[in-house]
Amino acid sequence: MRRIYLDHSATTPVHPRVASVVNRYMLADYGNASSVHSFGEAARKALIRAREQVAGLIGAEDREEIIFTSGGTESDNLAIKGAAWYNRKKGKHIVTSAGEHHAVLHACKALKRHGFRITEVGVDSEGRVDPDEVADAIEDDTILVTIMMANNEVGTVQPVAEIAEIARRHEVLFHTDAVQAVGQLDVNVSELGVDMLSISGHKIYGPKGVGALYLRKGTRIRSQQHGGHHERNMRAGTENVAGIAGLGEACALAEEELKFRRSHMIRLRDRLLDGLQESIEGLHINGSRDERLPNNANVSIAGVEGEAMLLGLNAEGIAASSGSACTSETLEASHVLSAMGMKPELAHASVRLTFGRENTEEDVDYVLQVFPGIVSRLRSMSPLDY
Ligand SMILES: *Cc1c(COP(=O)(O)O)cnc(C)c1O
Repeated sequence: MRRIYLDHSATTPVHPRVASVVNRYMLADYGNASSVHSFGEAARKALIRAREQVAGLIGAEDREEIIFTSGGTESDNLAIKGAAWYNRKKGKHIVTSAGEHHAVLHACKALKRHGFRITEVGVDSEGRVDPDEVADAIEDDTILVTIMMANNEVGTVQPVAEIAEIARRHEVLFHTDAVQAVGQLDVNVSELGVDMLSISGHKIYGPKGVGALYLRKGTRIRSQQHGGHHERNMRAGTENVAGIAGLGEACALAEEELKFRRSHMIRLRDRLLDGLQESIEGLHINGSRDERLPNNANVSIAGVEGEAMLLGLNAEGIAASSGSACTSETLEASHVLSAMGMKPELAHASVRLTFGRENTEEDVDYVLQVFPGIVSRLRSMSPLDY
């Protein structure tokens, strides 16, 4: 049977070029970057190179603005908690949005228990944050605004440059979770005007368990992990040299392929969305049609359970997801779709298909061939009307 992977927003395959770099720093140049000898020197060089590759992809001026972490979740936590604790004397108010990843929402929730106030601005029916609402939410004691660059569930791209400008005007720090945007969109920290930006390796054909936080020069935050003097005292612990070297290579690859990836995936995405809309009655496209990640297709199918749809697709060799990977274990509807004002029945009927660099038009045509059959089979068994 064909096996087609359409869940790249959950994770991506490691690119062979990345795997071979990781391999080198596991098997040959396995030194500790803090060691004096030649093995340590090789590891130190790997970190410098990776820092330059990450900085290059996001247009950071100085490689020292890159802090390596264990992934997107840690980068979000470090940015938010680090900024909160460093600035707690200035104020205890943070602005975020209802559609953020749980790494952001739950980091904010944890701060609430320490007396910080969190304002979650809403999103519209397409999942977009209104910059004016962010401006209105900023108070005298606001110390941080954190709004994601692109949504992991519905793919909606936020007006981050506009929001960053508002934050800057109010002299408030601005962080963006760019985990889904990096490698698909032009992400330039100077043009965006962000102070902090989160990246994850495994969403861009790099290894799992490694990521980075861009921290603009002069931006002060408090470290959340204490120990040695690694990462300019911002993140203690022996560096994951192999993973970091792999992340660097993944960033270099993303920079080389960015144009191709964008046009390739937009073509596949639109072929899929147009095809589904034509062949399935009662199909709703979630998120914005224009301000959308190139690789994201998210649809709700009236009268069909998303989970049942996933099993049906999986039986045909197609890997997709409903809601986000992190919440599919629970029975709650996606917090993003709920925030967009979607009725629970439709929110529970959502399916996300996310493309990658290796997908083809044949993959799309295969999905279009089997999808309608699964829908009518499920509808014929369902007590729900649509
Ligand atoms: C995947 C993801 C994260 C978490 O990154 P990890 O490296 O898996 O911890 C954070 N934010 C967004 C938008 C994501 O898609």
